[in-house]
Amino acid sequence: MAPETPGRETQETLSNLLQETRRFEPPAELAASANITADAYDEAERDRLGFWERAADRLTWGRRWDTTLEWNAPFAKWFVGGTLNVAYNCVDRHVEAGHGDKVAYYWEGEPEGHNRTLTYSDLLREVSKAANALTELGVGKGDRVAIYMPMIPELPIAMLACARIGAIHSVVFGGFSAAALSGRIQDADAKLVITADGGFRRGAPSALKPTVDEAVAECPGVEHVLVVRRTGEDVQVTGKDIWWHDLVDRQSDTHEAPQHDAEDPLYILYTSGTTGKPKGILHTTGGYLTQTAWTHHAVFDLKPESDIYWCTADIGWVTGHSYIVYGPLANGATSVIYEGTPDTPHRGRFWEVVQKYGVTILYTAPTAIRTFMKWGDDIPAKFDMSSLRVLGSVGEPINPEAYVWYREHIGGERCPVVDTWWQTETGAIMISPLPGVTAAKPGAAMRPLPGVSADVVDDQGVSVPDGGGGFLVVREPWPSMLRGIWGDEKRYKDTYWSRFDGMYFPGDGAKRDEDGDLWLLGRVDDVMLVSGHNISTTEVESALVSHPKVAEAAVVGATDPITGQAIVAFVILRGSAEESADIAKELRDHVAKSLGPIAKPRQILVVPELPKTRSGKIMRRLLRDVAENRSIGDVTTLADSSVMNLISQKLPSAS
Ligand code: ATP
Ligand code: MG
Repeated sequence: MAPETPGRETQETLSNLLQETRRFEPPAELAASANITADAYDEAERDRLGFWERAADRLTWGRRWDTTLEWNAPFAKWFVGGTLNVAYNCVDRHVEAGHGDKVAYYWEGEPEGHNRTLTYSDLLREVSKAANALTELGVGKGDRVAIYMPMIPELPIAMLACARIGAIHSVVFGGFSAAALSGRIQDADAKLVITADGGFRRGAPSALKPTVDEAVAECPGVEHVLVVRRTGEDVQVTGKDIWWHDLVDRQSDTHEAPQHDAEDPLYILYTSGTTGKPKGILHTTGGYLTQTAWTHHAVFDLKPESDIYWCTADIGWVTGHSYIVYGPLANGATSVIYEGTPDTPHRGRFWEVVQKYGVTILYTAPTAIRTFMKWGDDIPAKFDMSSLRVLGSVGEPINPEAYVWYREHIGGERCPVVDTWWQTETGAIMISPLPGVTAAKPGAAMRPLPGVSADVVDDQGVSVPDGGGGFLVVREPWPSMLRGIWGDEKRYKDTYWSRFDGMYFPGDGAKRDEDGDLWLLGRVDDVMLVSGHNISTTEVESALVSHPKVAEAAVVGATDPITGQAIVAFVILRGSAEESADIAKELRDHVAKSLGPIAKPRQILVVPELPKTRSGKIMRRLLRDVAENRSIGDVTTLADSSVMNLISQKLPSAS
């Protein structure tokens, strides 16, 4: 029998097991000159729309809006009647303000010595040429453009060129298969694909063009394929292909940016596919740029004059869209873009990049942090990272141990860590500490940002008291919220607006501790129901990771005749730890001691790898299939499908 979804069925709220007492006050110096002070919360509390109007006023508008918000639930329109150009806001206005020589991007290719520096003036010329090129290809306002590229400067340039002319980009992560790419091209009905011959990955050229050829063969609507030469490897040239250097380089480097409506579409982006078929999330112009720019300014305390900011995400994910491209550029930031993997040519590459550019703000993901922990403390210790002043985390709940490790071994105990909760759908950060204000707790996203009305409710939609747990919801519309799922209004309503009346339901569980601070507990589909208690996978995983021998853990609930569901844990040991006969007992006892006997796993399997999406998130549904001896479900969004074989092989020894 298939397990029911306990989070949705039960009357109970989430059990609150984890007790975390550590606190980290904001550094005094940072607090004294922080972009945002505690007043922002009161200001937004008094007048939420007024707060967002002031955030929107940080942008340059062609025509100011008439109405701040039109809310016809679940459809929002922000800054109605306003016009602006996103690319103008991200590029031109900084040049016009005299900052043309300021660096927009330091690009670091994977092979050493492949570097490029783009100032805001350079970016303006490149984006203008690309916008002229798109126009020559017959791409116009509202047309869809699929972008399938490595992490090279032409990727943000292509996105900004689309934004400039009002074409809607759909960036598809460069690691996806031909089938995944053609599905996304068809879903959005793109007429142009922008790609490259390939990129560098793990020390070698990794081709993209053959995948595009295979995908485009299934997409008759694609008129042209624009190809950047990056690796120089031989590619097959088809009738639709045009080289970027042939077309773009000969264009005029000036382009008049037209005004677009605040609600004109900016892009479509498909979610990571952790839970199932990806959704084509639609974002629009004015509200999206307002909130990405404001949150980037607030959450990272960005000082454009002095900071060197590095977000390590791939631009193919929403984190890259909002916090490599749109937010930082709207703020006139100087950013680093790195093409490759953290272990090429050695496991200290990230820290070498931090040292080389003097990175002051680093934004990365728990999956990366856990990998660095596994590799050992001695690696970051070899580099000078004293330039760092703020650290960020996004993508999954961060285990308290990983948070503390990040703070200590990367941040030298002096940098605040901001755990930022948000999703493709929210467009921008929603819940996060503020580095100059919040006394942060390791593993907690703390409070909704000013202007965001997130809450935790029980299954009746009633706010839980302090100390309670339940479902995360957002009660009021926010500027960068998704405007729908491309071509599927019903799925938009069903997925986000049907669980609770009048509230946005992101699908995540959360608890509110005794101080009223929020802890994200993973997806409600992952919540386990053990002997009548709802237990979050995140809490059990964090307890396992707090054991010195454990590097990573994934926990699922498997059907059990006695307890309803029983906890099954999959763990990866730290580099030096040996798999011994009694490790399972040792870890079970450790969990029982940290969280209580109810959370004790029935079974613990030591595995070499965990199944992850290409964005690095653990796919628990596949582990549930293993734990319940079912055939394994859809693995198309998995980064490495051989992982499931490795895990299945471990099974007999454990049962
Ligand atoms: P799909 O919706 O297709 O299953 P996905 O949810 O993984 O994919 P994203 O939009 O990339 O796609 O991820 C957003 C989700 O990631 C959130 O809903 C949440 O579950 C998780 N998440 C992101 N940041 C955090 C965080 N700081 N703490 C806890 N969870 C987080
Ligand atoms: Mg999701």
